[in-house]
Amino acid sequence: MRVRNYADVVNRILETLRKSEHLTIWHQTHIPSTSTRIKGLPYPLYCLHYTAKQNSSSLIYVSAGIHGDEPAGVECAIRLIELLADGEQHNFGTFPLDAYNWLISPCDNPYGYERNIRENAAGLDLNRMFEIPNRCPETTFIAESLQRKRCADTQKPLSQNTMGRRQAIELALDLHEDSDSDGFYLWERRTSQCFPIGNAVVKNVDGLCAINREPLIENHRNENGVITLLNKVTTKGWTRGRYLAEQVNTRCLILETPTQLDWETRIAAHMIAVQTAIKHALKPL
Ligand SMILES: [Zn+2]
Repeated sequence: MRVRNYADVVNRILETLRKSEHLTIWHQTHIPSTSTRIKGLPYPLYCLHYTAKQNSSSLIYVSAGIHGDEPAGVECAIRLIELLADGEQHNFGTFPLDAYNWLISPCDNPYGYERNIRENAAGLDLNRMFEIPNRCPETTFIAESLQRKRCADTQKPLSQNTMGRRQAIELALDLHEDSDSDGFYLWERRTSQCFPIGNAVVKNVDGLCAINREPLIENHRNENGVITLLNKVTTKGWTRGRYLAEQVNTRCLILETPTQLDWETRIAAHMIAVQTAIKHALKPL
């Protein structure tokens, strides 16, 4: 049964593209839809690019909604896009969102999102499919977005300063939720040479919402809300985080808000976590 309408997400994305020249479609594809209301019409998937004024600014990748029953991540990603598109209000509080280049993939599993289920239409957990991404249309799309292969039906041309060689992603943030957790926590996937930032993120979220300090989460050691996955840890299977670490060579935080908390608190927790991660991972502006 459908509980949400993905068309609302698409309409909000298209509105931001009309508003801002800095926002462009980085990659787009269509995947089959089995929805009764829009039967036969495919779901469009979007990865958007925001171009900072400074060409040399860092590139941040934000993704959400690979699990369809984790909607606060999707809402946070769309609000980020809307803030970036709004020339007047693209700074969130005092945080200069527009000072960075962004790749934002806001809703990677529309079928699951509409039905509030984890899996896609084929019953697959997409966040375990990254060993061979081209077995699923959704993970093919994600891998293509990250490997900078754009498809032919992109509607707007990329602006001048994104036409060159692919810019390396310096920080990836994958927004998730957990229905079994009573507090926020995160997975930090990094190399041993890469300084940790997870604790700083949890510290800033603490106070806004509870932190999950259980010693073990899914059989992984949780230290005050941070589960560290160093180098080539394989115990989580072929997740997007592992793909980002091994195939894209970027550090990644996987953020988890508790779905039992109220809607706006979960979105705010994601938003604060995204900003704190940027502040600590990237060089000062
Ligand atoms: Zn998830």
